[in-house]
Amino acid sequence: MENAELKEALQSLKSTKVRMTPQRHAILEFLFDCESHPTADEIYKALEDKFPNMSVATVYNNLRVFKEAGLVRELTYGDSSSRFDSNTSHHYHVICDDCGKIVDFHYPGLNEVEALAEHVASFRVRSHRMEVYGTCPDCRQKH
Ligand SMILES: [Zn+2]
Ligand SMILES: [Zn+2]
Repeated sequence: MENAELKEALQSLKSTKVRMTPQRHAILEFLFDCESHPTADEIYKALEDKFPNMSVATVYNNLRVFKEAGLVRELTYGDSSSRFDSNTSHHYHVICDDCGKIVDFHYPGLNEVEALAEHVASFRVRSHRMEVYGTCPDCRQKH
C-alpha cells in the first residue's frame, strides 16, 4: 500500500521530465515510509538487497533529482552527511546530540522573527531555520 503523500509525489513527478525507474520508486517509497530523515547511506543500506547493482552515488543522484523536483528537502547540519526529509511542508526538528536522530515537531511558524529581521536589517527574508537539540529517549536509556 502506498501512502497518500507518496502517491502525490509520484503524480507530480509524472508532470516533470523525471523518468520513473524501479530504483527511484523504491527510494521514494523508503523516504516516505520512514520518518527518521535518513542519509543517502542509510537508504542505500536499506535497499541494497533489493538492488545489488545500485551504488550510494546512484542513491545520492536520485535524491538530487527528487530535491530539484521539490519532492524532498535536503537537511545539512554542520559537516555531517545530508539527511533527507520527505515532508516539505513547514515544520521544525528536534535533533539528538548523541545519535543524530531527527524528529519532526510542529510549532506555529516564527513569522514575527522573519518580519523583525526584515525590519531591523532591511533584508528581504527568504526563510529561517530553527533546531532544538537534546538527547532522544533511546539514548537517554543508555545512560
Ligand atoms: Zn539519540
Ligand atoms: Zn522533518
